[in-house]
Amino acid sequence: MIVTNEINLRTQGDGDIIDITSKVQKHVADSGINNGIATVFVAHSTVGITTIEFEPGLVADLQKLWERLVPKNIPYDHDARWGDGNGYAHVRASLLGASLVIPFTDRKLALGTWQQIIMVDFDNRPRNRTVIVQVMGE
Ligand code: ZN
Repeated sequence: MIVTNEINLRTQGDGDIIDITSKVQKHVADSGINNGIATVFVAHSTVGITTIEFEPGLVADLQKLWERLVPKNIPYDHDARWGDGNGYAHVRASLLGASLVIPFTDRKLALGTWQQIIMVDFDNRPRNRTVIVQVMGE
């Protein structure tokens, strides 16, 4: 069986990191599927998905990493072509990736105790975002 749902969120943009673990877990628990995999996917080109220990120190560390890795204040061809000023956000999102697959057993995600699912909105302004949660299994 396959069950597909959405999580709708308002983000602040600018590297906003949101813990979506409980929402994903609820979709798994409510799916009627006992064992399988949950795919978490964002259909946005300036958002990424990963896992982290969701605590303020690491959240800050991850936000600082993006500035070292993909600085805002360098020229981007995307900005030259489109003028929307978010070339860095697209590049950061591509590096992080748009999806994650998490196995679950007995309707419970197989995450570590200190491992939460986060979505990171890299865009340069607040946005409304949709996260797709597709649960597959039996
Ligand atoms: Zn753009």
